Order: sequence, then structure tokens, then C-alpha cells
Amino acid sequence: MEELLYKDYLEKDDIVRLLSLQGDEMKRLFKRAMEVKLQYLDNKVHLRGLIEYSNRCRKSCLYCGVRGLNDKVHRYTLTDEEVLDCARQALDLHYGSIAIQSGERNNKAFTDKITELVREIKRLSDGKLGITLSLGEQSEEVYRQWFEAGAHRYLLRIEASNEELYYKIHPKDERHDFHKRLACIDSLLKIGYQTGTGVMIGLPFQTVEDLADDLLFFRRKNVAMVGMGPFIPHQETPLWSYADQIPPAEERLNMTLKMIAVLRLMMPEINMVAATADQTLDPMGREKAIMAGANVIMPNLTPMGHREDYLIYPDKACVGDKPEECFSCLDLRMKAIGHEILYDAWGDSVAFTKGR
Ligand code: SAM
Ligand code: SF4
Repeated sequence: MEELLYKDYLEKDDIVRLLSLQGDEMKRLFKRAMEVKLQYLDNKVHLRGLIEYSNRCRKSCLYCGVRGLNDKVHRYTLTDEEVLDCARQALDLHYGSIAIQSGERNNKAFTDKITELVREIKRLSDGKLGITLSLGEQSEEVYRQWFEAGAHRYLLRIEASNEELYYKIHPKDERHDFHKRLACIDSLLKIGYQTGTGVMIGLPFQTVEDLADDLLFFRRKNVAMVGMGPFIPHQETPLWSYADQIPPAEERLNMTLKMIAVLRLMMPEINMVAATADQTLDPMGREKAIMAGANVIMPNLTPMGHREDYLIYPDKACVGDKPEECFSCLDLRMKAIGHEILYDAWGDSVAFTKGR
């Protein structure tokens, strides 16, 4: 195993072996991933203030609490002023970047509104705020329009890189097309976004080989950022009926941590998110993810009155925390594990900046 931890280029068999580690060997993997992170990226943590713009969605992914077909959700879209207030708050709290996330919509009124908001945020922050978008699948033209308006990072998880598994967690129709999703990732890369992707971990039907293939997919695509988190079943979704067939929470979190650690060995300079879902499964989940090789955290800036409506999975961590509380809490939590938050910085992916 020691040999694998220092191997230059991990093959699929090596990855499966590392993802299967348990106990002290698993802890050794985390320690090695941490060493690699410190060597390439230091102990710095980047923040993205998260703005959950709207829970209206044209899709109905089988795992997601805000899927269009869930009629128990109260639907909302933030007003322009609410979005701009969130951006001002990010500036006041010295977060160097924001991330705007939303259910997927692609009518022109929506896409033009995003363009306008991106431009306005750039203007009001005097270019100081970096902008990540995570607004689902769009045409190349729309991605380009948002890029030209000033967004420079985009996160579109592939969710599962195995096509067969993809269709077990999505309806098989023209709105949920695996090849379209792949093509979108390619468009984002082509346009020049710092492109991020990722998967959920602990899905029904998912095998350790699937997870190894996911990591190989990230390396093949040479993405700049990865966001991976545990799958958390939501009662109002079709995948709820498999909730008793997935690994228990601790196992799902450990597998997420192993995925982060192995990917840090494979792609030392990319940005990797410690997801809120990690903390939902374990109060120390985000810290554990940072200690396993992640380097980005996304504190929530969504106005309090709308957070309960953006429950993609139940019991989401930090839903009741005000931004200023999050700010001091995160700072302390990161210091306690020997990490330092980098304020007033975009926190770009080193891999991307160096053109790797
Ligand atoms: N609509 C956009 C999209 O799907 O790309 C962005 C917003 S979507 C809510 C963000 C991410 O939430 C998805 O990529 C998915 O991986 C994650 N997600 C949705 N339901 C989840 C669940 N039940 N457990 C864990 N993650 C979930
Ligand atoms: Fe919509 Fe995204 Fe949820 Fe799928 S994961 S239903 S696209 S918000």
C-alpha cells in the first residue's frame, strides 16, 4: 500500500484498492493526501459564498428534493436586490468569491437575467468578487454569454460517469440526457471556464469500480475543480425507496473522504470542495474533508427566509446559521485543524492557473 501512496500515475486497480482501505490504512491514505495538499497548495482554504438563486427546475432528477415534479416544495426565485445584497454581504465578510446555484431553467428571460446579475455583481464589487455559476445544462451560446459577462468558474457535476448508473438515477428522457451533460462539460472547458464536475457517493447501485471510473473521468477531462459529496436520500423523491439499500451514513462519508484523498494524489493542484453534505452526515464532516485533501468551503449566503425551500436533501447543515455567524465559526473551525482561510481572494485553481 505504501508504494501506491507514492506512485506517479494511479491505474484503475490501484484506485479500487485505495478506495477499499479501512481503519488505520484508510487514515494513512488521508495523511498522505494531506501531505500532498500541503506540498502543492499549502494550508489555505478558499471560500465561495453560496447563493441559492431559485428552486424552480425543469428537470426531475430521481434523487433531488427540489425536482420539478415534487409538488410539496414552495417555489421561489430571489429578487435582483436579494442577490445583490448577498454579493454585498460577501464583500463585507471578505469572501473573495461567490457561487450562484439554481434549479435548471433555460428560457431566455432566465438566462438574460443571470447575465445581467453577473454584470451587476462585477460592477458593484469593482471586479473584486470571483463568480462561479452552477446553473445546470445550457447551450454553448448561453455559457459563453455568462462567461463574457464575468463568470469565470462553472460547476456541473456529471453525477455518475457510468452511463448505465446515470440512467438509474435520472429519468430516461430528453431532459436528462447523459450525452448532453457530457457535451456541456466539454463546452465549458472549450470556452475557458475553470470547469468543475463531480459525483454523489453512496448512490443505490453504485459500485467501487464506478467510483474509480469517476476519478479516472475527472483526470481524463483535466477539470480544474471537483465537488463530490455523499448522497442523502430525500423522502419526496423516487430514490427514497432504495434508502435502506445504500451504505450507512458513516460508510458513505468515509467513502467520500477516500474519494477526495485519492483524487488529491491523482490531481494535486485542483480545487476540491468540502461539501455541506459532509457536515450533514457528521458535525465534523467538512473538517474531515479538509483533512483528507479538500481546500474549498461554500458558506451559505442565501437569505434566511428561502433556505428551507432549497432542501435538495433533508437536514442540511447550517441552514439556520446567519452569514456573520458562519464567518466566525468557519474561521475558528479551520484554525482548529491548522488551516487558514484566504480572504479577499478569488482562490483560483492552481492547476488551471498554471495551465496544467
Ligand atoms: N441544478 C443544477 C445541477 O443539477 O447541476 C445545480 C443545482 S443541484 C441542486 C446541485 C447538486 O446537488 C447536484 O449536482 C447534485 O449532485 C446535488 N444533490 C441533489 N440531490 C442530492 C441528494 N439527495 N444528496 C446529495 N446531493 C444531492
Ligand atoms: Fe434540478 Fe439540479 Fe435538482 Fe436535478 S439536481 S432536479 S437539475 S436542481
